[in-house]
Amino acid sequence: MALRIPFNKPYMTGRELSLIADAHASLHLSGDGKYTKLCNGWLADLSGAKAALLTHSCTAALEMSALLCDIKPGDEVIVPSFTFVTTVSSFVMRGAVPVFIDIRPDTLNMDETKIEDAITEKTRAIVPVHYAGVGAEMDTIVAIAKKHNLKVVEDNAQGVMSSFKGKPLGSFGNLAAVSFHETKNIISGEGGALYVNDEELIEKAEIIREKGTNRARFFRGQVDKYTWEDLGSSYLPSEILAAFLWGQIKEAYEITDRRLKIWQAYHEAFAGLEKEGLIRRPIVPEYCKHNAHMYYLLFNSLEERTDFIAKMREQGIGCVFHYLPLHDSPAGKKFGRFNEELPVTKKVSDTLVRLPLWVGLEKDGQLEEVIENVIRIVKR
Ligand SMILES: *Cc1c(COP(=O)(O)O)cnc(C)c1O
Repeated sequence: MALRIPFNKPYMTGRELSLIADAHASLHLSGDGKYTKLCNGWLADLSGAKAALLTHSCTAALEMSALLCDIKPGDEVIVPSFTFVTTVSSFVMRGAVPVFIDIRPDTLNMDETKIEDAITEKTRAIVPVHYAGVGAEMDTIVAIAKKHNLKVVEDNAQGVMSSFKGKPLGSFGNLAAVSFHETKNIISGEGGALYVNDEELIEKAEIIREKGTNRARFFRGQVDKYTWEDLGSSYLPSEILAAFLWGQIKEAYEITDRRLKIWQAYHEAFAGLEKEGLIRRPIVPEYCKHNAHMYYLLFNSLEERTDFIAKMREQGIGCVFHYLPLHDSPAGKKFGRFNEELPVTKKVSDTLVRLPLWVGLEKDGQLEEVIENVIRIVKR
């Protein structure tokens, strides 16, 4: 059954095709042309990163991060279990053992109080995720990393345009990865970027991104021939993709504002349900400025959530659950370990549901329709 109000609907600004036509006409179709440079520059300004490098996905940026952290077989990385597969698999590709820790019940981000117990002499990195574009406890995480001489890689896939205590997400770690996948706020279908905050990692990042060669330096005239220098792969997106992304970036602030209005409308509308103890709404600490990447509700049980999703579907409205705990997955069990059961992860995985949130939902009474149906179905 086709849903009248889908969970996600990619938003186009209307500029994308003419920018692609321009990239096409310029006859520079491979990576690192005009549009890639425009996007890189904008992202570096936004985040304060020493360098921002477009990639073909956030996953690519995470894989590059694992190489940049020099992860070797048997090294450990501390990760949340409540996250997307590639937060973890990108490090496992280098032979890392993921050590899964629980999340905080409020923001659903990595529980920073569990990190130190998970550290061993093999630990190399901490990989926090900014779930729903709400910052993880970065001051504590960075302090722990400093104390134990660990790298921090922020999985900031969902957090472009968000900040924590006045600093942009993605500016805290040695490295950060962002996503422009169709399901994110600012999109290019598939797409991502790596933020490099450590000056001394920039050159290595460029080499890894250019198939292990020093091609980037060659093009800048810094070396007179290019050669194979180190590990690497093909992580550049084409100019066609970068041109599309540039069209989106030009509207990044408007997109965020429009999403925030929808988020706020949901949040106010469901205050009563929360008071009655029927659901719990998202908790955003006052020091976190978020980008309205997601609006979710937490039910009291798996049964209530399953019933809710089915009833919303009957009304033609798409609502979806989210991550299955990675520590409990076949690959998580094979590759990873955890010190204790992860009760918050388990509970949230069973009870969280995401509501439709996309630019344009606010038109034609659709937002009101979702709100009315949520209230009616939850109260029943
Ligand atoms: C979307 C997402 C990714 C993967 O992004 P891609 O660009 O599809 O590779 C990784 N981590 C998190 C937390 C995500 O939400």
